[in-house]
Amino acid sequence: MECGCGKTMAGGCRSCLLREVSGRLCKDGHNSAICKSKWRSSPDIPSGEHAFLDVVDNSSLKKGEVRVIIELNFRAEFEMARAGDQYNNLVQKLPEVFVGKVERLQSLIKILCSAAKKCMKEKKMHMGPWRKQKYMQAKWLSPCKRTTLTPVLAVGDSARLRPKPKESMLTVDLLEMMPNRHCMTAVQVV
Ligand SMILES: [Zn+2]
Repeated sequence: MECGCGKTMAGGCRSCLLREVSGRLCKDGHNSAICKSKWRSSPDIPSGEHAFLDVVDNSSLKKGEVRVIIELNFRAEFEMARAGDQYNNLVQKLPEVFVGKVERLQSLIKILCSAAKKCMKEKKMHMGPWRKQKYMQAKWLSPCKRTTLTPVLAVGDSARLRPKPKESMLTVDLLEMMPNRHCMTAVQVV
């Protein structure tokens, strides 16, 4: 569980927290991994990297591979110090922890980033490039390296033989791990 930083999970180390949560999900039979995305700079956005979790479910022949992204600091990613009430209210509606498919993540990013843009425009302030939709998308949607902590998990065909894990179980697992994080319910952005 130690990442070498000397801190503990409770000490606020993100790397330790990612390992701990991913490890527990694996232990419960989920194909969970730490994903490290990395992207180059482009005329629009600077380069960067980001770490988050995912769970890949291959158990359904019908649905094929289902990938669920888990971002433990989802709301914090969108907080802005000098934003207006309208934007802040929107951010407050976000779950602290995001658990969901890529499509849902994409639509949330779109909504939040266009709201941020509007807010900064109204305040006549410059918006940092790391607030742009392209940058936010790069964090979770650019090519990433998946690191699985426990190599015992079956992938591909053999995974289909395992009992089908339910998505709701995942939510329960996370809630048990983080009892003070109760904002896991689906976000409703109007
Ligand atoms: Zn650490």
